[in-house]
This record gives sequence, C-alpha cells and structure tokens, in this order.
Amino acid sequence: MGEKRLGDVIDDHCIKCRRVTNHSIVSLVDGEAAKVRCRTCYHDHDFRHEQAPPTKKELKKMEADALAAAEAAASAGVEAVPEETDRV
Ligand SMILES: [Zn+2]
Repeated sequence: MGEKRLGDVIDDHCIKCRRVTNHSIVSLVDGEAAKVRCRTCYHDHDFRHEQAPPTKKELKKMEADALAAAEAAASAGVEAVPEETDRV
C-alpha cells in the first residue's frame, strides 16, 4: 500500500490552473511521483507535493532574509570552524 504507479491520479498544485487539481503521474523516482500532468490543462511539471510555488514577492523576501541572516552571522563574528584534518 502507498506504492505509486505511473498513471495514478494524485492531487498537486498546477501553476497553470493556479490551484490544486487532479494530476496523473508521468514519472516516478524511488517510488515517488517525480513528474505529473495536470488532468485539467495537461500541463506537465515536477511534482510539488501540493505546494504552490513561491511568488516573486516571496522569493524576494527569502532572498532578503538570507542576506540579513548572512550579515548577522558576519557581524557576530561567526566563523566556520575548520575541521581537524590528519596532519603529517
Ligand atoms: Zn492545470
């Protein structure tokens, strides 16, 4: 049970329909859906686990957050600790 097969119908978010629609599995990787096809508009895309892709606004925010975090780490003097390697 739980094993996915090609052609199985699963829910996923379609960027064309902009909502969760029925999709057929068109590609499997390790028993998990890798690519799916929207049964409403027949658009093929990577399986997104029903997650809507981030909007441009969200992408910008994520970028800004990452930058802020990097700056905070730099100003706090956080450095990557070099791993002890075998010395000769
Ligand atoms: Zn669609």
